[in-house]
Amino acid sequence: MCADFTRIHRFLEERDPPTPCLVVDTDVVAARAREFGAAFPGALIRYAVKANPAPPVLDALVAAGIGFDVAGPAELELCLGRGADPADIAYGNPIKKPRDIAFAFGRGVREFTSDAPADVDHLGRYAPGSAVSIRVVLDAPDSATPFGRKFGCAPAEALDLVLRAAERGLRPGIAFHVGSQQPDVTAWPIGIAAAAKLFGEAAAHGVAMTRLNLGGGFATTHRTAVPPLAAYASAIASALDTSFPGGRPELLLEPGRVLVADAGLLRTEVVLVAHRDERRWVYLDIGRYNGLAEAENEAIAYRVEPVDAHDGPDGPVVLAGPTCDGDDVLYQRTPYRLPVSLGSGDRLDLPGTGAYTASYASVAFNGIEPLRTYCIGRWGDA
Ligand SMILES: *Cc1c(COP(=O)(O)O)cnc(C)c1O
Repeated sequence: MCADFTRIHRFLEERDPPTPCLVVDTDVVAARAREFGAAFPGALIRYAVKANPAPPVLDALVAAGIGFDVAGPAELELCLGRGADPADIAYGNPIKKPRDIAFAFGRGVREFTSDAPADVDHLGRYAPGSAVSIRVVLDAPDSATPFGRKFGCAPAEALDLVLRAAERGLRPGIAFHVGSQQPDVTAWPIGIAAAAKLFGEAAAHGVAMTRLNLGGGFATTHRTAVPPLAAYASAIASALDTSFPGGRPELLLEPGRVLVADAGLLRTEVVLVAHRDERRWVYLDIGRYNGLAEAENEAIAYRVEPVDAHDGPDGPVVLAGPTCDGDDVLYQRTPYRLPVSLGSGDRLDLPGTGAYTASYASVAFNGIEPLRTYCIGRWGDA
């Protein structure tokens, strides 16, 4: 699906809101959700709320029949407040307090992810009888924003956790996450094969698992194209056929980025242009602390497009944010070119920025307010 920002541009023309701001088209969110569901028929889809928790975004997803993957009580309450059914909510964060488990269970959540013995024990005690996917770490290709070793038990440890969960009256399954913004579709077959091995080992111990959580990680196009959703879907489908010849497990998917990134566009204004060490520095009113956290290590390189026509040639630039922090530099290695005539007050658009932008903005670093979001379309509030 090709992202179309015409309606967002029209909104910006008509309303001319102060910059920086993010505009999200909720109709695009709903369309993306339907497209994703069609690519994975029969799978349970749980949107990872952290990607963009704006209430109109959640409304569009509730209307599209999508469930939610929450990281804690606040995201859970947010989703329930928008009319989500607790039966369609998964508590996917392996790092959780016992009292937060009890809270979620009390609200009706029965689907969890775990990767450590103490957490399995907490779940057995505070979420009795729930489905628990044991998250394994994979030897898979690196994504743009990998999780490193923070999450997932070693596959050799997973069987113990599965059996431990079963002993405590929980219903174990397997989960993996291939890292966010994963452009390599072969990452999923690696996880599916590892999961199938664990399903077999558990069965040999008398524990029949039924559920496989394939996580998120589906990439979106920024400056370089990523595979279409169909390529992910077919890699996953054929890996399931190969690894589970006796029939597929019930599938859970936790897409975040792929449902919302292309629904959003961020508008920023040039604060200052200065020449230092023979490089042209362009300072924007958006930076690492008010929405572009994913520019850390230049992991995600957004498209940057001038709003107004500029005469004359383009030239190389370093892009940086507005704060008094030395790390608030966006791109100094990734090559960017912008018009040589660009100056203070000129506006730039960053399309495809609906995911992991507003939700990452700090509260008031340097007194800068969190990135303002305007939601348009059927579920919009702008
Ligand atoms: C962040 C997260 C996701 C979503 O990842 P995307 O790369 O945005 O699809 C899914 N599951 C879990 C457990 C996560 O933490």
